[in-house]
Amino acid sequence: MVNEPTESRSTVENLDPIVISEEQFNRAAHCVKGLKSGLVEFLKKPKRVNIVNFPVEMDDDSVQSFQGFRVQHNRVFGPGKGGIRYHPDVTMEEVVSLAKLMTWKCALVNVPFGGAKGGVVCDTKNLSDRELRRITRRYTSELYDEIGPHQDIPAPDLYTNEQTMAWIFDTYDVLHPGFNNRPVVTGKPIEMGGSYGRYEATGNGCLFATQRFLSKALIPEHQDVAGTRVAIQGFGDVGAVAANAFHRQGAKIIAVSDSKGGIFSAAGLDPTEVERFKATHNTVVGMADTMTITNDELLELECDILLPAALGNQIHAGNAVNVKASLVVEGANNPTTPRADRILQERGIYVLPDILVNAGGVTVSYYEWVQNQVNEQWDYDTTTEKMRAKLHAAVDSVFSRWQAFVVGEESTRDQMPDFRTIALAIAIERVVHATLLRGIWP
Ligand code: NAD
Repeated sequence: MVNEPTESRSTVENLDPIVISEEQFNRAAHCVKGLKSGLVEFLKKPKRVNIVNFPVEMDDDSVQSFQGFRVQHNRVFGPGKGGIRYHPDVTMEEVVSLAKLMTWKCALVNVPFGGAKGGVVCDTKNLSDRELRRITRRYTSELYDEIGPHQDIPAPDLYTNEQTMAWIFDTYDVLHPGFNNRPVVTGKPIEMGGSYGRYEATGNGCLFATQRFLSKALIPEHQDVAGTRVAIQGFGDVGAVAANAFHRQGAKIIAVSDSKGGIFSAAGLDPTEVERFKATHNTVVGMADTMTITNDELLELECDILLPAALGNQIHAGNAVNVKASLVVEGANNPTTPRADRILQERGIYVLPDILVNAGGVTVSYYEWVQNQVNEQWDYDTTTEKMRAKLHAAVDSVFSRWQAFVVGEESTRDQMPDFRTIALAIAIERVVHATLLRGIWP
């Protein structure tokens, strides 16, 4: 099949993350009855935005200035919660939109946290471990009391990991002696109070949410992941774990990729072998018995499930028309633009949204935080099964709300709210309800 040429994203749609998150919010707000306009304005904006600029001594004795952000969007359900990403393209607008996403995600899976997010503008590929440690410590000390076990609790995200969390914990602990500071970050190494199952949580959660959704039989030929052909963009914490999880359940992983490109095998890849190859070659590209493809080609492959697990805005107005999967499972945050959402819906392709699909990470982060309060460690099965139950409940609530639209409204499929809109509407309702229950101060 010949694809239509892929248009450049930014020429055809506005990719400003604030604009995108407002558009998604506005669509969902239409599905929420009796929403007061003042509350709408309040929920659209972040509660607090921290911008920090700081110097760091580099290995060659030069000094470089770095910029970091930490945004708290909403704290109605509890302390802020959200990852910290290290990436050269991080902007305040992106961090604000991701903090909002965390508010809705926590509300959707009933985790008692608000939404927050952080980022530092840097390219980890050009930094040594010692430089990364100094950047992390200085960023943490600049934030000082803006984070804390009952204030705002960071976690790993793009290009940060459990080592980053160990440095943040240590810095915070040195600055706040005499307290149990372990719950200040989640996604820590196991030896430092990390939770069993946290590293795997987001990838496993992608599988659990997909299985539950497929069991609803909306895609009659695929009521389970076994036998499905899956293409995964991104082979990091989320993508690699998801690849293994789907593979173990009998799915065929036909393609994976990283920032350097992708690999394809019609016969299916063994994700463990791919991990081994990536560990020695620093990329998946070049693995024996695979065909090299680009990241753009991966998104347009003939497959059943497309699982973006890398950056935002990957499925956009220019390429949504070429997506051939019957289901998009958003492991990454914000991988699909609003224009692409509409195109996919018109084409009958279902999208399981980020706030549902990748919520396994924040759910087990919550369990880590709970364990840290009493210095306990639960086993892998306990955290994983508790998380599975929460994701199933969230999929069920989104699905039954969506079904109520099918039964209750005389609308055709392309006029119906998509799953993102429904999931957001449920989350918005919960946050609004809690806000009014608490009562608006004073
Ligand atoms: P990671 O840094 O571990 O992995 C990112 C992967 O994306 C790497 O394989 C990298 O090579 C690849 N990548 C980078 N640039 C790319 C490009 N231009 N094209 C294709 N691939 C590219 O990050 P992660 O923790 O796996 O996060 C991935 C996504 O999942 C992000 O959107 C993140 O916000 C989201 N997410 C992560 C978690 C979590 O628990 N880690 C939870 C929820 C959501």
